[in-house]
Amino acid sequence: MARYVGPVCRLCRREGTKLYLKGDRCYNDSKCAVIKRAVPPGQHGQMRRKLSNYGIQLREKQKLRRIYGLNERQFKNYFTRAERQKGVSGENFLRILERRLDNVIFRLGLSDSRSEARQFVRHGHVDINGHKVNIPSYQVKIGEIVAVREKSRSKPFVQESIEQSKSKKVPVWLELNYEKAEGRIISLPTRQEIDTQINEQLIVEFYSK
Ligand code: SF4
Repeated sequence: MARYVGPVCRLCRREGTKLYLKGDRCYNDSKCAVIKRAVPPGQHGQMRRKLSNYGIQLREKQKLRRIYGLNERQFKNYFTRAERQKGVSGENFLRILERRLDNVIFRLGLSDSRSEARQFVRHGHVDINGHKVNIPSYQVKIGEIVAVREKSRSKPFVQESIEQSKSKKVPVWLELNYEKAEGRIISLPTRQEIDTQINEQLIVEFYSK
């Protein structure tokens, strides 16, 4: 199944909430489509429909999938993996999503959005422990050094990304060395440390049917 490449603000409008898919622009309410046009997209968007339990679970699942920009197959595979791990499935699931390399780049503040982070990785600007990795889904392990490649650092847009990271807040489970343009996971995030406004239990229920 192909990845969605259409207008992303439409996805927020569909979910009726900000999914923060466009970086800085999302923090400016006068530019945010979900604030300006608070109705679902499409011809029947204005119609109010009461959601069933299944509908509520489905919407929560779609919300999370869209936040991380994944297709259904990839997303479901992560869930299956999370279920096989010890502990609470919903939290395991979020932890797997957080450890994706594109997400780590985003959380380190080296990109404005996850989609930008994905491109950053795909275009070969990232090293892990000194080796180039251009796979956005790579699962970063505790202690691995995620760095902007030496070769890429002279590029103006990469310099801009590094400069921007200076002013961004890095989650407690990550460490950023701004001078070296590198970061690492210092511990796996707890649920409270994952800043994703979602009820993951609804997603567990959705997939448990
Ligand atoms: Fe969503 Fe608003 Fe950002 Fe568009 S600008 S992606 S509607 S949060």
